[in-house]
Amino acid sequence: MIYLDNAGTTKMFDECVEIGRKYSCENFFNPSALSVEALEVSRLLNETEKFFLNELGALQGNVLFTGCATESNNLAVKGSLRTGDWEYVFSAGEHPSVYNQAKKLELDGCKVHIVPLNEKGQIDLQKLQSVLNEKTRLISVIHVSNETGAVNDLQKISQMKKKICPKAILHVDGVQAFKKIPFALAGLDVDLYSFSGHKLHAPKGIAGLYVKNKSALKELFYGGGQQYGLRSGTENVAGIMQFKKAVEKIDVKQNWDNVTLLKKQMVEKLSKVEGIEVFDFEGSVYILNLAFNGVKGETMLHALNEKGVIVGLGSACSSKKAGNRVLENIGLDKDLIVSSVRISFNAYQTLEEIEKASEIIVKVYKDIKERVS
Ligand code: PLP
Repeated sequence: MIYLDNAGTTKMFDECVEIGRKYSCENFFNPSALSVEALEVSRLLNETEKFFLNELGALQGNVLFTGCATESNNLAVKGSLRTGDWEYVFSAGEHPSVYNQAKKLELDGCKVHIVPLNEKGQIDLQKLQSVLNEKTRLISVIHVSNETGAVNDLQKISQMKKKICPKAILHVDGVQAFKKIPFALAGLDVDLYSFSGHKLHAPKGIAGLYVKNKSALKELFYGGGQQYGLRSGTENVAGIMQFKKAVEKIDVKQNWDNVTLLKKQMVEKLSKVEGIEVFDFEGSVYILNLAFNGVKGETMLHALNEKGVIVGLGSACSSKKAGNRVLENIGLDKDLIVSSVRISFNAYQTLEEIEKASEIIVKVYKDIKERVS
């Protein structure tokens, strides 16, 4: 099997297995308890929080550990809402875990701005500037699009926020960016930053939310007051330690270089084939969008699956729904969208694997085309 849906989820690193056992069966103590053993686990979590702050390039703030980035995004958006005459700003390219909150806020009568994307799949900065004002409470933008790999310019967005609405909260969904592209929060005016373990070879069920200033956020759950009272519930110690292990193993630069070679090879091979369209959103190297003229993306996905190649159809959370909201917003032709698939790489794949996958993709496409014409 050749797995090319790594933006959906990734295979966990083998090294995380033993860590999971250790912190579930040996150092299994509740970090909120008072035994010497429990205090040691609590100390370890404090240390790990600092580790993540460092990995995010943050000089101040805290990291809350959550169950998934969907939770982080909900905590960020819902936790930033305030009563009064406020306005909330989202990009049209948000993952459903942010976008569906924007839609709900609209239904609830809040003033919501959904800022369209440009042809490269990034938030349109001019349009963003035109909706920001002193009433803006929250700006929520995705760092790297899970659909197209488009990278938003956080530097420019931060500067805009500083100038027009310095008191607004800037939340960034960094799930497809953290440990994949280089950045440091210290140089940006980002208040909240979401990230997730299972996109980075850590297990499912562990994620994080960076919080620059705790007073800007309100909790969603009432409980024992863990994690500064902002995320009650006993911490997933094993998951946190496994996430740390995975992050330690990842070399952003080396991985980027490896994936660049993988992508280049696939693009070279596929772009020569008549009927296969390769989109170039000039963003993250990890994501590649293809369209198969005359064949539905879903048909390609199932046919490739039968031949042992797993690809995606855009966001895993929305792939069962028709259409693609993000590609539509960019203004891509409907026929292209219907025939598109998303390929997403991981840095530990080989050129041989990608060569093989490319051959299978070409053969499957040609076979289907022949049958339908
Ligand atoms: N945000 C982005 C950009 C994603 O790609 C995903 C997962 O597909 C999520 C949020 C949700 O992450 P999780 O599966 O950890 O809830």
